[in-house]
Amino acid sequence: MKYHKKKLITLRKLLTKADLSFSQYIRHRDHNQCFASEISKDEAAKCTGFPQCAHLIKRGKKAVRFDERNCHCSCSYHNYLHNHYPEIMTSWFIKKYGEPVYLALVLSSRRIKKWTRPELEELIKKYKLRLLNKSNETGI
Ligand SMILES: [Zn+2]
Repeated sequence: MKYHKKKLITLRKLLTKADLSFSQYIRHRDHNQCFASEISKDEAAKCTGFPQCAHLIKRGKKAVRFDERNCHCSCSYHNYLHNHYPEIMTSWFIKKYGEPVYLALVLSSRRIKKWTRPELEELIKKYKLRLLNKSNETGI
């Protein structure tokens, strides 16, 4: 008898799923409100596009890709702007959370991290569940 092994999805696809699940949670946590709306009325007036999950320290730094301190809701305009002017979000973050939190995050980002399949599966489950629980709390 032939044994049919269940085909696993690729690690890349799993990473995309984890990014999505995490991003949905972050946007919900921040009430779909762009971080820049807390900076000034002028900055808030520039908000355009859909809410996204912006990484203060770019997600290429894998160790902080799923770090809740590192991720905040942003409109697409400010998320794009962040690529060219990271100072805007960085100064907002330091003002809101303090320099020690920022420095701890920078330190974390310098670790070498490779996400494994079980870790990613755990992340997907964790944030799906958190989103569900949060949704119940707010009655959505
Ligand atoms: Zn914005």
